Amino acid sequence: MTSPFATHEIFNQSPPLEDVNLFTSDLALMEAVEREGAAHATRRLTDFGAVCGSSEALQRGRLANEYPPRLRSFDSKGRRLDTVEFHPAYHELMQTSVAEGLHCSAWDHLAKPGTQPSPGANVARSAGTYMAIQMEAGHQCPITMTNAAVPALLLQPELAKSWIPKILTRTYDKEFKPSSEKAGVTLGMGMTEKQGGTDVRANSTAATPAGNGGPGAEYIITGHKWFMSAPMCDAFLVLAQAPGGLSCFLMPRFLPDGNVNALAFQRLKEKLGNRSNASSEVEFQGAHAWMIGEEGRGVPTIIEMVTCTRLDCAVGTAGLMRLTLANAIHHCRHRTVFQKKLVDQPLMNQVLADLALDVEAATALSFRLSRSFDRASDPHAAAWRRLMTPVTKYWVCKIGPALAYEAMECLGGNGYVEEGLAARLYRELPLNAIWEGSGNVMALDLLRVLQRDAETVEIVMDGMTQAAGDDVHLKAHLERVQGLLHEPRKLDRRARDLAEALALLAAGTILRAHAPAPVADAFIGTRLSGPSRQTYGQGLDWADTRVIVDRAYPE
Ligand SMILES: Cc1cc2nc3c(=O)[nH]c(=O)nc-3n(C[C@H](O)[C@H](O)[C@H](O)COP(=O)(O)OP(=O)(O)OC[C@H]3O[C@@H](n4cnc5c(N)ncnc54)[C@H](O)[C@@H]3O)c2cc1C
Repeated sequence: MTSPFATHEIFNQSPPLEDVNLFTSDLALMEAVEREGAAHATRRLTDFGAVCGSSEALQRGRLANEYPPRLRSFDSKGRRLDTVEFHPAYHELMQTSVAEGLHCSAWDHLAKPGTQPSPGANVARSAGTYMAIQMEAGHQCPITMTNAAVPALLLQPELAKSWIPKILTRTYDKEFKPSSEKAGVTLGMGMTEKQGGTDVRANSTAATPAGNGGPGAEYIITGHKWFMSAPMCDAFLVLAQAPGGLSCFLMPRFLPDGNVNALAFQRLKEKLGNRSNASSEVEFQGAHAWMIGEEGRGVPTIIEMVTCTRLDCAVGTAGLMRLTLANAIHHCRHRTVFQKKLVDQPLMNQVLADLALDVEAATALSFRLSRSFDRASDPHAAAWRRLMTPVTKYWVCKIGPALAYEAMECLGGNGYVEEGLAARLYRELPLNAIWEGSGNVMALDLLRVLQRDAETVEIVMDGMTQAAGDDVHLKAHLERVQGLLHEPRKLDRRARDLAEALALLAAGTILRAHAPAPVADAFIGTRLSGPSRQTYGQGLDWADTRVIVDRAYPE
């Protein structure tokens, strides 16, 4: 019986967006997976898509963020603990991603020496990452870093031999104990210090050889890191100044004798978003670490790790953008305003379609980049990987926050309250642009390729020229890019122009070749040509926005 005091009935609010298969509901993702060489993973990704989009997974994501990690520095008697406590939901998320192999599956071939990487392994892993980050973003930090640590570890065979088998398991072991007693491990990295993050050569942390020193040898590390995320990892790749210059080290939480290594965590950062992930400030008080690669070659040694994390930044941002978009379309399909569903209001349909175009482009670019990681021996793929890693990371991560803002507005007031997903996504999205090489750093990395590796640029540009074909707008845009490339005088000031122009050209060519015509036409007609725009929802009056929205998130 209705209460006599009932003031109202709730209606015209969208139902929760849950129990959606994040793979089969995402045409752009499914097509990218097939196109870029991981069709064999479709069944597995379909199963994982159901897990990541389940109401249980989303509930865990909420809990892990509402109850963020806490540093326990000391026990009640003053003894150091240096451990981090998480809500059980965080561990369940880690368990899900590790069981899926997102921390290592691209390296499975290492389990059998002499075996080649499995075709499409990076693309399949990226698809898993793209969906897992929609389940929850913060826990992906240690997952990404563990995967990315492998190529650096491979440079030091004896360290690789003891650590990589533990990385390759599908077992998440949250216990704080020596890696020798654990079934599976995770790895982090410590580069950033107070006086310099981008400029790691300014690192002051000192490494003194415990014996003779050199690759694989033990060093004593004294200093600090201003940001070191996921401090409960089992080991970290850190940079420190050895007598021969900045070098890379593997620093485990426990020493081979079973004692705890001298990492003293000072506090955890209070962050805008990414709250489920612990990001620490740490002091190394004579911590022990083992050198990876040669003394003085710290940056080239860790750069492979950084390159892998940049791929994940782009893929992860594309995944978060996708969720943001689906959330907005879902709401607008259920909300009636002035006797019409919001999604059917012409202006709103145009806004949603416009958002969808950027998600299509971000997805296409991220998965093309993933494929280039799979085909390292192919010179075209290698050139794409070198040139387009900074370009893709730059552009995809830069557009994410603006998209989150506009998508939030689609939800009206509901978008602005913390209980909803939109607010969390809005706070999360700027992060991928900041870490692992911020915007300017990516643009400068692009310049480095132009200055040092003309052949790489030529290979990529030849491919894009072919892909542009007879499309008038693509050809005109290509000429603008060529103009920038051949005007080296001012390139140090135009590196962002070039990064964006290259990203748009690449996305335009991929969409023209593979996306339905309404998507490719609208993307190229607004991003590569047409009147200038400052916000979403403009310049698409001629486009088939209904088709674009329906494809983005089929009902
Ligand atoms: C949540 C979070 C977690 C993190 N976790 C880790 C971690 O686990 N391990 C780790 O090592 N670090 C971590 N970081 C640190 C992060 O990688 C750095 O903050 C980032 O690399 C930038 O370094 P910085 O903060 O010292 O800024 P700076 O290096 O001072 O850069 C400031 C700005 O200047 C720009 N800039 C730099 N050089 C130039 C140039 N030559 N020309 C023009 N512009 C330039 C940059 O693009 C940036 O926008 C984390 C950061 C955050 C926010």
